[in-house]
Amino acid sequence: MARKKLMAANWKMYKTPDQARDFFHNFLPLVAGHGRDEIVVCPPFVDIRASVESSKNSSVSIGGQNLYWEKEGAYTGEISATMLVATGCTHVIIGHSERREYFGETDDTVNLKLKAALEADLTPIVCVGEVLEEREAGLTEDVLRRQCVRAFHAVSTKKAGKLVIAYEPVWAIGTGKTATPRMAADAHRLIRGEAAKTFGEEFANSMRILYGGSVKPENAKALMSEGEIDGALVGGASLDPKSFAAVVKY
Ligand code: PEP
Repeated sequence: MARKKLMAANWKMYKTPDQARDFFHNFLPLVAGHGRDEIVVCPPFVDIRASVESSKNSSVSIGGQNLYWEKEGAYTGEISATMLVATGCTHVIIGHSERREYFGETDDTVNLKLKAALEADLTPIVCVGEVLEEREAGLTEDVLRRQCVRAFHAVSTKKAGKLVIAYEPVWAIGTGKTATPRMAADAHRLIRGEAAKTFGEEFANSMRILYGGSVKPENAKALMSEGEIDGALVGGASLDPKSFAAVVKY
């Protein structure tokens, strides 16, 4: 089954609302009429409004970089799925390795966030991936399996409808090192296998698995030509309109 690729930008903690507007002003003409892939930009929360307004008449969607699982309450500094939807987001990144490393996210909080995102009809982009020591110790498969099993816990196939996974080997994020298309494909097959165990073959075959980790214009084509890779989650190279457009149009 053909899976439409999803090209997603993760701006991390970069850009003010004015800089976000500037980005879209320059980026949108570069991808006008590009219908081959779905495009999503995930800016910091404070830029969401400017990003939604700036991309209003385009095919580019906007997503959050995180969410909290409760609907509302005394959770200072947090943002709910409902709030993301109300500001015009359609997607949300969950469990990015930087959140796992610096902000105490665990497989269990990823699961709670995934359920909240699906409940609100957001498209969740759940990040999984091994750190260098785990790869070197031959633990990549165990780590990916554990992250998937725990993320998918108590999510029904019916509810999982829009689930997207991003395989992001942590050693490749922001380092300039990229997994080879073959390494990524092996990891993607394993992830798809785990999804099949939980959600069934049909669901797993239609589920998109993105690759993330130093994707840039120079390596996007080789990675995206691999049949198992259904798109990219792009950090550094998504900050510049020309370079993200070049990745999107690989
Ligand atoms: C990311 O932020 O998810 C990412 C993959 O970053 P980079 O492209 O900079 O490695």
